Amino acid sequence: MSSTAPPLKVLIAGGGIGGLAAALALSQASSAAHGPALHLQVWEHKLAWSEQGAGIQLGPNAVRHLQAWGLGNALEQVAFLPQHLVVCNAHARKGQVGVLGRLRLGQRMQDCYGAPYFTLARADLHQLLLSAVKALPVELQLARRVVSLKVEPQVEVKWEDLKPVSGSEALNTQIFDAVVGADGIWSYVREALLHDGPAHATGHCAYRAQLPMQALPAQLRSFDVTVWLGYRFHVVHYPVKGGTVLNVVVIVQGSPCDKEQWLPQITSVQSAGCRASTQLLDVLNAVDDWQSWPLFDRPPLNGPQAMAQGHVALLGDAAHPMRPYLAQGAAMAIEDAQSLAQAWGSRVSSAAPELQIPQAMQAYALNRWRRNAQVQRRAQRNGFVFHLQGPMAWARDRSIQWLGESVLDIPWLYSA
Ligand SMILES: Cc1cc2nc3c(=O)[nH]c(=O)nc-3n(C[C@H](O)[C@H](O)[C@H](O)COP(=O)(O)OP(=O)(O)OC[C@H]3O[C@@H](n4cnc5c(N)ncnc54)[C@H](O)[C@@H]3O)c2cc1C
Repeated sequence: MSSTAPPLKVLIAGGGIGGLAAALALSQASSAAHGPALHLQVWEHKLAWSEQGAGIQLGPNAVRHLQAWGLGNALEQVAFLPQHLVVCNAHARKGQVGVLGRLRLGQRMQDCYGAPYFTLARADLHQLLLSAVKALPVELQLARRVVSLKVEPQVEVKWEDLKPVSGSEALNTQIFDAVVGADGIWSYVREALLHDGPAHATGHCAYRAQLPMQALPAQLRSFDVTVWLGYRFHVVHYPVKGGTVLNVVVIVQGSPCDKEQWLPQITSVQSAGCRASTQLLDVLNAVDDWQSWPLFDRPPLNGPQAMAQGHVALLGDAAHPMRPYLAQGAAMAIEDAQSLAQAWGSRVSSAAPELQIPQAMQAYALNRWRRNAQVQRRAQRNGFVFHLQGPMAWARDRSIQWLGESVLDIPWLYSA
């Protein structure tokens, strides 16, 4: 390809955390490798840039990539650096010590894994990525929904214009050299690639809320990541917005997504015969406004061929939606983005990009699918362990008490 060859057209479907991270990483890697010119586009079907949900924990495995992309300082401005992850028994009775174990975060994470463990508002992370992408030659399009695509040899994408003024219901068609499906758990790109139907309901439901720290009594102002383990539920809370806001997530198993049912279920005497700890109840009762969030997932992909085919690859929740019990879904999307960019930067040259793009996509999938599957499985297992009752819960609690940090830390996860 000569220098006057048209740029390679690459579409990232979906402008969430994964899609924007991929745009940033790909754009940087391609220019650092002096690869062929790219016309990189991100299409988001929402009408405005926004990020739903509340808070997010980011382990060092994700933070190190954000730092490498030049976002370290900006991240520090919006993130909080908690000192501990504290695991508590939600059913501790009055007078009992609810704390089962602690994992040191803060400086220890930096020392052990080379990057910090942060907590932050999802909207802040999304905004940070968006601002970085806006500073690059990347075309951002809102109100564009990818509806279907044909994979070989180039990718023919059908899309719908959702702008209220467009008035056109006809589908548009565009050809791309490569497409990255970062369109989340209900991914259209995945359906076109794998035809494996929708994600399935897990029967678990998340409730999210944010509370100004100032509105809480002093003894409830917690600056750690705190996890309360209960029978068929658990609660996680941690500070965001520089420590001024407490993010609270309750995950309830097997109940309908209806606060009128789960809140009394936690707060009253349960079938396990235990009431939730007073301190936990005080935090939950301080919340007026819960956002409910039914949880869906999929089994792990069964090989790299399911993550990338020809000129199309899946990334983030589109490839591996996972239960939030390891706080790693967005982190895996960020890791995916870094891996995709690395594969692209090292393989796609000006010589024969039409051959090299599928190779780069396969290299990416080969590098990622197994780790994503491992993290998905571990997240699912955590959900089971978190919600135990009776003797199994007793054994879990004793192992956390006796083994402490050695069961709470996950070196294979954070060091990769
Ligand atoms: C309760 C809860 C707590 C969590 N906590 C954590 C945590 O602490 N740490 C962590 O790392 N992860 C966490 N996660 C997981 C994390 O939120 C997700 O894994 C992550 O947001 C996935 O990012 P994504 O970009 O792949 O998908 P999404 O965030 O879903 O983004 C997909 C984007 O694509 C757009 N889109 C969809 N369809 C189309 C289409 N056809 N055309 C164009 N655009 C489209 C959507 O509007 C959206 O903007 C949590 C999840 C839940 C539910």
